[in-house]
Amino acid sequence: MKYALVTGGSRGIGRAICVKLAEMGYYVIINYTSKKEEAENTLASVREKGSDGEVMKFNVADQAEVEASIGVWLDKNPDKYIEVLVNNAGIRKDQLLMWMSNDEWNSVLGVNLGGFFNVTRLIIKGMLVKKYGRVVNVVSLSGLKGLPGQTNYSASKAGVIGATKALSQEVGRRGITVNAVAPGFIKTEMTEDFNEKDFKQLIPMARFGTSEEVAEVVGFLASEKSSYVTGQVISVNGGLYS
Ligand code: NAP
Repeated sequence: MKYALVTGGSRGIGRAICVKLAEMGYYVIINYTSKKEEAENTLASVREKGSDGEVMKFNVADQAEVEASIGVWLDKNPDKYIEVLVNNAGIRKDQLLMWMSNDEWNSVLGVNLGGFFNVTRLIIKGMLVKKYGRVVNVVSLSGLKGLPGQTNYSASKAGVIGATKALSQEVGRRGITVNAVAPGFIKTEMTEDFNEKDFKQLIPMARFGTSEEVAEVVGFLASEKSSYVTGQVISVNGGLYS
């Protein structure tokens, strides 16, 4: 089997990505940090697609935890390698900059940007040895355009966009592509405090997107079919920003 790791695969966009990768025949390692039951639900959906997987608990922002969890898996499976990595785990803690606390800044940067570093650094090694790999980073409209009240979140996602472009140039010769997908407003728990009606007029397609619509683009970038696409940011935002 071919192996894929999805961070934050327990809910929302991450769950849809896990299901898409299962459809593509991947064994999916479903990372979560707090909601084990939701991660188990994702695993059941993966199995419904006729594939298999496992859940793996770690906080992407905690370097020691990431290294321990992924390290144990790699030690137990010396003959296997993870050829698709989707860095999807993310949080937002919106606040105007002048009121922003250290925690609001550090935790968002730690999960969204630090998480990319902690996980990718470990997984890229196997891809380099095997001379094939796909890294897909879930970023955001907020990291491209900047959104008021989200200086922490916009900075974290813009950071991952920069890292995507830099890493793609480091590893391209080894058959590894590194791309980012930038969703606009997608219906998940992360946006449940937004009223779709208030935003509808701003979005050319006049609606929020679905997790499955994001997962389709991630699936393409995770597939062999995207072999000459690297260092790119693909927006999935209903035309909201280009
Ligand atoms: P969500 O429904 O809130 O789900 C977040 C996922 O990330 C959950 O699986 C959660 O795990 C996991 N997670 C959070 N912190 C983590 C940590 N420290 N370590 C490991 N996993 C962690 O969010 P979503 O809307 O699906 O968002 C997924 C990604 O899309 C994020 O990167 C987000 O920034 C990005 N995005 C979303 C939207 C949108 O409109 N929804 C727009 C643009 C970009 P637990 O279940 O264990 O808590």
